[in-house]
Amino acid sequence: MRGAIDRPQLESALRHAQERKELRVHYQPRVDLHNGQIVAAEALLRWQHDGALVQPNDFIPLAEETGLIQRMGTWVLGEVCRQQRDWLDRGVPNVTIGVNVSQRQLRARAADEELPALCRRLLDAVDLDARWIELELTESLLMETPERTIAQLQELNDAGIKLAIDDFGTGYSSLAYLTQLPLSYLKIDRSFVNHVCTEPNSAAVARAIIGLAHSLRLTVIAEGVETAAQLGFLRKVDCDEMQGFYFSRPLPADQFEAMLVAGESIAVSAGPSTETLLLVDDEVSILRSLTRLLRRDGYNILTTTDPREGLEMLSINDVQVIISDQRMPLMAGSEFLHRVREIHPDTVRMMLTGYADLESVKDAINRGAIWRYLTKPWEGDELRRLVREGFREYVLRRGNHGNAISTTPA
Ligand code: C2E
Ligand code: MG
Ligand code: MG
Repeated sequence: MRGAIDRPQLESALRHAQERKELRVHYQPRVDLHNGQIVAAEALLRWQHDGALVQPNDFIPLAEETGLIQRMGTWVLGEVCRQQRDWLDRGVPNVTIGVNVSQRQLRARAADEELPALCRRLLDAVDLDARWIELELTESLLMETPERTIAQLQELNDAGIKLAIDDFGTGYSSLAYLTQLPLSYLKIDRSFVNHVCTEPNSAAVARAIIGLAHSLRLTVIAEGVETAAQLGFLRKVDCDEMQGFYFSRPLPADQFEAMLVAGESIAVSAGPSTETLLLVDDEVSILRSLTRLLRRDGYNILTTTDPREGLEMLSINDVQVIISDQRMPLMAGSEFLHRVREIHPDTVRMMLTGYADLESVKDAINRGAIWRYLTKPWEGDELRRLVREGFREYVLRRGNHGNAISTTPA
């Protein structure tokens, strides 16, 4: 929020926001990772105040505290229903819209209209089918769920309104809730998505969440996807949908509509899978001579001097065999290959070292990070034979466990 506006002022401004018609709904598209198409969107509240667009984090907490969120939430739901009706009437290619629901909206007091009745009334008011809206509930909201809330969620689900669990992984998850509530979607929190390409632990958490969700028949949505590398990783680990700045920021209704009309999508390359080799060495001359040597065997060869970039390349490309130098200033080869092992366990990894590095080779072997090591200077034919074997090893591994998630062979 700009300037030093104090709390009472903000509160009073917020109280009048609705009648002054200062509230807006922006829409952020959700993309299906299997076909690249927009399949849904999330409605995100904005407050046009004093010439600035105020973001939810700057006013939602206050709205929650003061109870204003209840009225605002009702307005958002009504506005989304109205907008959906308008899009349908004008023949705009329509998608489902997810609406965020706050604690307060589920904890209506006895005198208030409960959420299922409210949804029903707002849908009926514009004669809209329930399948055009979804509700997003946070983990913490579900955790505090008394029996009455579970009944409400059941009622919503029975009415045809799908439910999503939002920001998954950030609250205290009681996995029991996942089995008891009528959920359709699980949204992986941005904090995990952020580091999936570079941090083995984030990658492991994302993989595990996707596996868990799929075994519970939930559709998984990754939030906050900002790079092609993150997108590539998510696709590899079979995430279903994504939402994030990489594809689009939240947009005003007219701009989102233009996107739907234009049929914007993400290219999904199901290109021919060729044998791809990644070479990582901080010395460009070594990359060059390795490339010259191995090119004649018909591999698709990727090179980089920076292991971090290497990690990104692995998310974007289908790489089967990796050769990495050990001594690199930005990240040691053993550390790089260890991370690769965690994030892309099926890859076949080799290390190229000088004799002086035997300690780190031993360490890498013992951690299962490498399959073979080679010494500098190398013997051309031997190196070519090893790389060939590496690709064969990859095929064997895939044959043994297909797309298994948890096996991590060296
Ligand atoms: P959320 O429901 O988890 O919504 C996703 C947030 O992540 C949005 O922030 C969105 O703009 C942001 N985001 C999406 N992609 C990216 C990305 O690639 N990078 C980054 N850095 N951020 C990304 P926003 O719009 O500021 O909303 C914040 C939170 O405010 C929402 O989190 C939601 O909890 C709450 N909120 C928004 N609208 C409403 C509403 O109508 N009702 C209620 N109760 N809460 C709302
Ligand atoms: Mg949300
Ligand atoms: Mg979220």
